Amino acid sequence: LAKERGKNNFQFFTYKDEDLIARKEKIEHALYSALSNNEFELYYQPKIALSSGKAYGVEALLRWRHPELGMIPPAEFIPIAESAGAMNTICEWVIQEACAQIKAWQASGLNVNVAVNVSSIQFDQDDFAANIAGALKRSRLSPEHLGIEITESVMCHLERTKKTLQELKNLGVHVAIDDFGTGYSSLHLLSQLPIDAVKIDKSFIQDILTDPNKASLVKTMISMAKDLNFELIAEGIEHDHQVKFLLDNGCHFGQGYLFSPPLPANDAANFLHRQMINA
Ligand code: C2E
Ligand code: MG
Ligand code: MG
Ligand code: MG
Repeated sequence: LAKERGKNNFQFFTYKDEDLIARKEKIEHALYSALSNNEFELYYQPKIALSSGKAYGVEALLRWRHPELGMIPPAEFIPIAESAGAMNTICEWVIQEACAQIKAWQASGLNVNVAVNVSSIQFDQDDFAANIAGALKRSRLSPEHLGIEITESVMCHLERTKKTLQELKNLGVHVAIDDFGTGYSSLHLLSQLPIDAVKIDKSFIQDILTDPNKASLVKTMISMAKDLNFELIAEGIEHDHQVKFLLDNGCHFGQGYLFSPPLPANDAANFLHRQMINA
């Protein structure tokens, strides 16, 4: 079989590539009507205080349900949207939708903080903080209910990043560095920035008991985060033993399928009504 495949390798991969390009083009084209067709939705994954198992907030994660292509994961369509220049509009929608959801939950007696993910292209724009301020104002929402998650890639433009972070801090919006450990920045570098939280990438958490290097890296991150006064959140927790490791080593917050996958707003509200701190 391998031999047969080897023989047809060229054609096999050419065909595959064409398939991929066709799908990419389809996605890019479909992006233009996705918003007006209401194909986007935010799901919400609870953030959990590990010692009690209770939720203290949620992260909003974008979902796109295309009538033909089905659920398209953000990891697939966000890079396409970025290169197509569609991310600005999408980002605005995400922030506006998250603000509206916070308001709706507040009206139903649920007081919950929502963090949205922002790609570095958005974050790098001069008017990013002003846009956030505008969205909060339009929704008549006080800033401490909204959080922003950005990845280490924003460190490429350190001076601008510092300025935007300071503006967000002045506003009172909570900021977390996402996927920490996968990029090139150090906690030391982060310590010079006005951020509130660091999220340990799930690739570290997944291997915590099998890979001693990752385990010791996680321990180092935990102790440095403590020294630097960052809130630390572990991503991708799927097993009890990971919770035990994290608690034993002083990391008190996390997210993962063990507690809850990202949920549609109604399901997230049900979860929060049952499991929210102070609920
Ligand atoms: P992220 O912000 O690091 O989000 C965590 C991802 O891990 C989510 O994937 C979530 O569904 C998944 N996850 C949560 N718990 C577990 C677990 O226990 N195990 C495993 N294996 N995975 C888990 P998702 O929703 O597919 O999002 C992927 C990435 O896409 C996000 O990573 C974020 O970088 C980006 N993204 C999502 N929504 C948005 C958005 O509205 N705007 C922007 N700019 N990026 C977004
Ligand atoms: Mg995130
Ligand atoms: Mg992450
Ligand atoms: Mg990620």
